[in-house]
Amino acid sequence: MSDVIHLLPDTVANQIAAGEVIQRPASVVKELVENSIDAGATSIKLLLKDAGRTYIQVIDNGKGMSETDARLCFDRHATSKISSADDLFALRTMGFRGEALPSISSISQLEMKTKRPEDEVGTLVEINGGKIERQESVACPDGTNFLVKNIFYNVPARRKFLKSNTAEFSHIEKEFFRVALVNPQVEFELYHNDQLVYQLHAGGLRERIIAIFGKNINAQLLSIEVDTPLVKIGGYVGKPETAKKQNDRQYFFVNGRYMRHPYFHKAVLQAFDRLIVPGTSPDYFIYFEVDPANIDVNIHPTKTEIKFESEQTIWPILMSCVKEALGKFNIVPSLDFEHGEDIFQDVPLNPSNPVSTSAFEANLDTSYNPFKTDGCGGSNYQYKKKSDPNLQNWETLYNGFESERTPSFSPSAFPDKPFDPSNFIDHSDTSSGSEFGMEGEENKTHYIQFKNKYILTVLKSGLACIDQHRAHVKVLYERYMKNIQQRKAASQQLMFPIRLEVMESEAMLLDDMAEDFSFLGFDISCLGKGSISINGIPSECNETEAENYLRDLLQSFKEGGDMKEGRAEKMAMKLAETSAIKAGKHLTEEEMMNLVSQLFSLPTPDYTSDNRIVMSIMTMEEIEKKFK
Ligand code: ADP
Ligand code: MG
Repeated sequence: MSDVIHLLPDTVANQIAAGEVIQRPASVVKELVENSIDAGATSIKLLLKDAGRTYIQVIDNGKGMSETDARLCFDRHATSKISSADDLFALRTMGFRGEALPSISSISQLEMKTKRPEDEVGTLVEINGGKIERQESVACPDGTNFLVKNIFYNVPARRKFLKSNTAEFSHIEKEFFRVALVNPQVEFELYHNDQLVYQLHAGGLRERIIAIFGKNINAQLLSIEVDTPLVKIGGYVGKPETAKKQNDRQYFFVNGRYMRHPYFHKAVLQAFDRLIVPGTSPDYFIYFEVDPANIDVNIHPTKTEIKFESEQTIWPILMSCVKEALGKFNIVPSLDFEHGEDIFQDVPLNPSNPVSTSAFEANLDTSYNPFKTDGCGGSNYQYKKKSDPNLQNWETLYNGFESERTPSFSPSAFPDKPFDPSNFIDHSDTSSGSEFGMEGEENKTHYIQFKNKYILTVLKSGLACIDQHRAHVKVLYERYMKNIQQRKAASQQLMFPIRLEVMESEAMLLDDMAEDFSFLGFDISCLGKGSISINGIPSECNETEAENYLRDLLQSFKEGGDMKEGRAEKMAMKLAETSAIKAGKHLTEEEMMNLVSQLFSLPTPDYTSDNRIVMSIMTMEEIEKKFK
């Protein structure tokens, strides 16, 4: 038998490599723009059609390529940036693998024009699916102009995997910001479907951040700076009020390259300790300069993690410089999350009396205090004192709520059979008799709030302990879903509409989801140029909640692709979570009664629609067992 092993033709090998490097239009944008930066461009124009699906064009005024290089650059491992393995430890360029151009050209129809300033004429190269179709001299401006058409035209399986234009555009935007934020000296323009959507003039870092995220961010930025022999750190951190649950304004860069760094992220969070609600994190734009020999960027072509040699030493340096920035501007001792006023005005620093950030105490109103570990509110104390000491055992009742579908205090406490609404004794209806003999008593208390978190009440089958937040989530979710299905909305118009600055990808998404938003009770209009106006909000929401909800939602949906399916449910659930009463809120008996009776009017009051336990019941038998 003859030998069976042979080398793959370059076109095939490149297509395989492209699977690693080029996943979507955004990868092409990243590679081409990084090449322009490496070529020393001071102006980069990016033109896209259909989120890059139809074409991606990158035009730069960089150093261009010679006739020979114009052809060579499409060969595998052809690079001008390194020539030996040692160079890997002294990297100053974005690229170095020589993989991008052969990969891109193997999965698209590509046209490139390039000219060096010292040459009379430039070179045109045309490649389809990795095959060079044409190379000739051409008159063109200095610099390089790449036109990448019909990405994945010859790999239908991959083309099929592309998501909606909104989602793909959002990926592009993300890559674009990552390059633009670390090259403020370079001018950028981004056109989408012939419209100029971002114009970023060359300037300083602060100007660049504002040009991208809108002028509102300006007042939020605190500058950080530290210079040690090991590392130079500079940039900005957002004030504590920029903290969000999902935050896409968090950027680390090292030596001009974007990176993800979960370990340094923790250092930043540590500096904000006690200034932000746990689970949220602030904006930041942090730039590291280190000796290239001390980092390893060569982990994976598309991974953005970068290993530092001295992470442990850098951690405290980073942490304390962020802390110092926070301490400098802030001498206000209290932090009021609920009302969100701008209490952090820039305050001149008094060097003789530096204020450490740890001096700030949270001072919240009773509805929510993330720092308090003992959640026992004053009003509950009364109940405790009056009630039978055995009632203290109720404490065990809420143990089970922490986990999902976990029986609370005994396996039988939460029967598998669906909850029977006839079980519910309507305490508001005085005509209904009760087997527990609560009716007819004077000054009776039918609802007890426990730890400002649970509602205790009597059902025919036993004593119920209801999680107030989840109960309200359940009630609201069902209401929102009904509104969406019946195509009607319950909205409150705002006297003063809220103006919001949004990214282009978010504006596209809002447009996409306009109908669902309106049935949830939002009245939103697009003002153009990255600005929207919220004129009406769902009736249960307050303005801050509505705004946060909208931001969170855009954040989580914009890269999610064509999630039309199940989208309304997710939107309704998130809104219910946002507007439902929180744990820690004191409820009057009337509020408890209303909530409980609304809950029991639903078919399955015992679980939220995402399967979390709403209530737990202790049966008569279980109670009696305790007294044996
Ligand atoms: P790498 O960037 O890793 O070197 P690429 O495949 O991205 O690999 O590019 C190959 C080479 O083509 C680069 O090393 C560079 O010399 C040249 N090149 C690519 N894009 C440009 C550009 N916009 N201007 C000038 N030269 C370029
Ligand atoms: Mg490159």
